[in-house]
Amino acid sequence: MTGPSPHRLSKSQYLRGLQCPKSLWLHNFRPDLRAPASPGVQHVFDQGHKVGLLAHQRFPGGVLIEADHNHIPDALRQTAEALEHGAEILFEAAFMHDGVLVRPDVLVKEGPRWDLIEVKSSTEVKEVYLPDIAIQRLVLEGAGLPVRRASLLHVNNQYIRKGKIDPTKFFTLSDLTEETMPYLRQAHAELAAMRKVLAGPDMPTVEIGAQCTRPYDCDFMCFCWKHVPAYSVYDLKRADFSVINALRAMGVMLLEDIPPDFKLTATQELQVQAAKTGKVHIDVAGIKKCLDKLVYPLYFLDFETVNLAVPPYDGMRPFQALPFQASLHVQERPSGEVRHLEYLGDPKSDPRLGMAEFLTRNIGPQGSVVVYNASFEGGRLCELAEAFPVQAKALHAIKGRLWDLIIPFRSNYFVHPAMRGSASMKAVLPALVPGMTYENLDIANGEMAFLAYEALMDGQVTGDEALKTMAALRVYCGQDTLGMVKILRVLLGQSTQRE
Ligand code: SF4
Repeated sequence: MTGPSPHRLSKSQYLRGLQCPKSLWLHNFRPDLRAPASPGVQHVFDQGHKVGLLAHQRFPGGVLIEADHNHIPDALRQTAEALEHGAEILFEAAFMHDGVLVRPDVLVKEGPRWDLIEVKSSTEVKEVYLPDIAIQRLVLEGAGLPVRRASLLHVNNQYIRKGKIDPTKFFTLSDLTEETMPYLRQAHAELAAMRKVLAGPDMPTVEIGAQCTRPYDCDFMCFCWKHVPAYSVYDLKRADFSVINALRAMGVMLLEDIPPDFKLTATQELQVQAAKTGKVHIDVAGIKKCLDKLVYPLYFLDFETVNLAVPPYDGMRPFQALPFQASLHVQERPSGEVRHLEYLGDPKSDPRLGMAEFLTRNIGPQGSVVVYNASFEGGRLCELAEAFPVQAKALHAIKGRLWDLIIPFRSNYFVHPAMRGSASMKAVLPALVPGMTYENLDIANGEMAFLAYEALMDGQVTGDEALKTMAALRVYCGQDTLGMVKILRVLLGQSTQRE
């Protein structure tokens, strides 16, 4: 078995070790078992990188230590040289103490001491950032760099873009010197425990649990969770690990094997009954109560959006959803034909005005606007109304007529065993309309859609490939609203059949 010296740790390894000692061990001794970063995770990294570059602009005159993580001795040497030459602002400087390596995002000299600034592309201070900052402070002070203040530079979600991004307003600086102290005091003990883990030849025994996804999705889940079936007690709706662990302690892995006297919530009970019997649970009165509010013509509406840390257009906030695509199926009367309309923005310009015009032109003054999860579509309609006063009244009127197709499923009026406890469209559609899945689509989910559009915005995809991507986006978004048409048809059939 080979691996780096067990006495050498980086900040990211320290944070990994805090989340799970087994993950730290695997990272060092069995990196081959790690899942590659998914496109979604890579997107998060890329957003962080863009925010990091903006942060540099906030500290003019800073010296960037260029050597990367593959050239740590060079990074240490460049840092020492920069300090010798009197640098007062450093980016990505490298420090090693007691076998721990850190590279603070920003260091600013204030008198004889330094301010340590960690940059995050988050809009809030999260607890996980405190040990992250604490370990950096421990190493800096150990390496002889006195720290005056430890802060987090994070994204200001109240910032509204107007012209070029203003890095002095884009960020919020939160002083966390006090908050990080308990983590600093704990750091030596944590490091000692991690060294013990890395000194041993054997992988630590750690049961799968809440730590596998908190604070981050562990990249060794493909290894540790491989014995867990695709549908199991881990999918029990809104069950925390105390419930799941109690079941596992009884040897129960499948929902079918949960003893009848095991205490479950009403929602979980329905889910488990569906798994045990294979039968669909239908609450006709509940479904009817929802359907009674439908008013024709029906407008089935779905948006695709992309959320970017750095707002791409004026009037937008960081991470504000940019609606770039809409699909609309229109049904004038019960059992009538449906016609399809769509909007896909030009990735090289702001798609929002075109979107607002498409919606107000094609959604008439009467009838229900059927969506799947109204809070999402409602939020986008409000943002469009705020951005475009001319269309605002009509957009608010559309929002006032939203009819949410998720409610019958979220309220357990319709529970199908194949939904596997989920009310999401991706679970409900193939369960209710067999054959209508997302499996064979080039773009098969919202994440793939926004990554594809972002690649078009960035010019990473051009020419024929861009045309193919645009076509795949159209197919995907159209599938969502056609799926809604078909799901509603099933619900209407249930309510009339049983009257
Ligand atoms: S999947 Fe869970 S148990 Fe396995 S290493 Fe990761 S956090 Fe630890």
